[in-house]
Amino acid sequence: MEIPHSCLCTLCQEPMTDAVSIEPCHDNICHPCACAMMSRVVHRCPVCRGQVKMFVKDHALSNAVTEIVGLIKKWRDDELSLHKHQELHTSSSGSCLISGRSNKRCREEDENVEPSQA
Ligand SMILES: [Zn+2]
Ligand SMILES: [Zn+2]
Repeated sequence: MEIPHSCLCTLCQEPMTDAVSIEPCHDNICHPCACAMMSRVVHRCPVCRGQVKMFVKDHALSNAVTEIVGLIKKWRDDELSLHKHQELHTSSSGSCLISGRSNKRCREEDENVEPSQA
């Protein structure tokens, strides 16, 4: 499961957990990128190239993206713990049964995961 493209900032490709809406075109970018943009002389919307009049905090989008990021993180944690418990890496097919990636790649990812608090 990947973070939906519409939740990513056009400029930095990070999830817009701190989103702003560009006036008047209503495209969205993240707040850090908006701040970086304000320090430049020319203000153009990175999405539609239109003129930027101002930035408005988009709380609804910020909350939605934060929620989605949380859900996906939980889903990935569940997926990884499932790997460990069922030892799916030992499948004879040579690739992980859940993710479809190679066993090696999955193992590396498992080892990067911090111990669960549960
Ligand atoms: Zn950004
Ligand atoms: Zn725009």
